[in-house]
Amino acid sequence: MKIDLAGQAALLKLTEVDLELNQIKAQLQALLDSPELKTLQSDLSSSAEELLVARTEFENLQTSVRRSEEDIRLVTERLVRDRERLNATSSPKDAIGIQGEIESLGRRKDELESIELELLEQLEDSQKKLELATVKRAELQAQMTDLQERLTAEIDAVKARGRKATADRLILVDKIPGEVLKKYENLAAKQVAVGKIVDRACNACHMVISSSALDQLSKLPEDEIGSCPECQAIIVR
Ligand SMILES: [Zn+2]
Repeated sequence: MKIDLAGQAALLKLTEVDLELNQIKAQLQALLDSPELKTLQSDLSSSAEELLVARTEFENLQTSVRRSEEDIRLVTERLVRDRERLNATSSPKDAIGIQGEIESLGRRKDELESIELELLEQLEDSQKKLELATVKRAELQAQMTDLQERLTAEIDAVKARGRKATADRLILVDKIPGEVLKKYENLAAKQVAVGKIVDRACNACHMVISSSALDQLSKLPEDEIGSCPECQAIIVR
């Protein structure tokens, strides 16, 4: 296969550009699969769940406190009415009955007030939990915004390098005859496709080449490409 020296240089450069393109592809994939992003996504989804649980608990407690206040209000109203009735009655028998009811309402009111006190303590704890969950979620959301911005910037930079390498590749490919390019593509799909002889070794596979094979390679015309007897890579001058 014939290819002039400029074409041979382009072929060698093409291996570098293709190597870079492969690295770019891997870097892009690594950025898209960012483990940091995955961790943060899972943290965000569990924080959303925590926040929902905390908010529901807080709202349920608020409802219980309101109900308890209403119960106390009703008992207090009945107590006020009973005391008025007690003051108004002239029957000692009625007075004893009302007095008994007042005592039992008083005990009920004490019970309700201690229940309310407990509920208010729970509400206070629940509010703290809700505040913490809200702050935590906001922090995670801020982290996510930062990470996405950083990843987008990195992805853009890698893509820009990819566009440059792709443009370089087109220029190089133009300098290489079709049949040599085809041979290159076939080789490049499975191995380092192009090498040079450096210190009697092929620098594609790093194997030392026998003297007779070196002899044959050196006898080839300048515009004729040879192949490495060890790895079949195209050997350029
Ligand atoms: Zn080789």
